[in-house]
Amino acid sequence: MSERLFGTNGFRGVVGEELTPQIAVKFGYAVGTHYLGKRVAVGWDGRLSSEMLTKALMSGLLSVGAQVYEIGLAPIPVLQKHVKENPELDYGVMTTASHNPPEYNGFKVVGPEGIEIPVSTERQIEEIFLSGEYALCEWSQVKEIRRIGDVIPTYIDSLLRNVDPDLLREEKKTVAVDPGHGVAALTIPHILQRIGYKAMTINAEIDGRFPIRPPEPTPEKLETLSKTVLAVGADFGVAYDGDGDRAIFCDEGGKTWWGDASGIAIAKHLAGKGLCEVVVTPVTSTAAAEIILQPMGVEVLRTPVGSRNVSYLMRDRGAVWGWEENGGGIYAPHLLARDGGITTLLMAQLMVEEGKTLSQVFGDLPRLWQVKTKVRTRPEVRDRIVEALIEEYGDEEIETIDGVKIWFGKDKWVLVRPSGTEPLIRVFAESSDRDEAAGLADQFRKKVESLTSTLA
Ligand code: MG
Repeated sequence: MSERLFGTNGFRGVVGEELTPQIAVKFGYAVGTHYLGKRVAVGWDGRLSSEMLTKALMSGLLSVGAQVYEIGLAPIPVLQKHVKENPELDYGVMTTASHNPPEYNGFKVVGPEGIEIPVSTERQIEEIFLSGEYALCEWSQVKEIRRIGDVIPTYIDSLLRNVDPDLLREEKKTVAVDPGHGVAALTIPHILQRIGYKAMTINAEIDGRFPIRPPEPTPEKLETLSKTVLAVGADFGVAYDGDGDRAIFCDEGGKTWWGDASGIAIAKHLAGKGLCEVVVTPVTSTAAAEIILQPMGVEVLRTPVGSRNVSYLMRDRGAVWGWEENGGGIYAPHLLARDGGITTLLMAQLMVEEGKTLSQVFGDLPRLWQVKTKVRTRPEVRDRIVEALIEEYGDEEIETIDGVKIWFGKDKWVLVRPSGTEPLIRVFAESSDRDEAAGLADQFRKKVESLTSTLA
């Protein structure tokens, strides 16, 4: 067990190695000690190890006298929404490894606003975990687990209050839905049925082995969705990650689009309706955001990588919409956390209100190409590599929100940032010219490699 429990996305590890039931019990002690006397909602995703780990986690929480409310098997936004809105709940813990491979699992702790807890709170929980100083209670203080009924219908009702269901019902669209054997299968088809849409599902049996595609919905892994859209003549297709907070869209022609396209399309639509003056997105997403939104008077704010950074900045600046390029969309009136369900409904409403097909919606956006690569490096030299680049490119326009982002024009940039979870430096390059983006990524990969060897 490393000294750090939490990475960029909560506590994650390979089951049976970094993450065992014994660790889950201790994690429950530590979290329950931190939130002593508070009421906790617990939910889990569809991974093979999720029930095993959740039962151990609950056992730890109960051991320190926590009142545990069982949300059960559900997408993570369901848990987050209940924590935010149910006055009986103070915080939540979700057993999930989101988009990671099947052998992984983890825990995400959600604060009272429904947002993943900040790093400062994670550090406090880590300290308790590592010190072993748990507030274990006497036998007479152990509480029974309570179950919350109708968790998913309540969530769907609240989701629909954030769109115009009557307007959506005017066009009975057909949607190809790919939950990727994850828990989005429990909500999305029902959400679509509630607005009179026909949901044609694939990979909709929850299966923690993720037999057909990985739990991360990257466009190149979604050929089956693309074929299904064409085969059934769907108006669009949509795929989700393992715990249902990311949505990736496929247009009616079978072309799958990265989350930047949907993030910007929704921002542009909301801005056109006068609903969105500020948007928030991490440093990694496309410069097309500024190119499209700034002329509309929308301020584009950038954060370090990690969806909670987007959530907290949205809260602090009163932003209505934020997104990650991986398909995580955040709509503040609903929840200050990513939700694939609300992203799907907002996209459907956009199509109806603009009277466009999805290929027209995305075709209207300027096309920038992004190339990503990585360099394996020792953790101790990572910050020095970034410092060396800041020094070298100090005369260019640079940003140091997360690593260093060097601008070579309004649609051309390179980002070099240390990974939050692995001994890697990630290199991102973007340009309106595909070869130029690839060339820039290659040039900076070589530069980082050479710095790695000189700094060794
Ligand atoms: Mg996720």
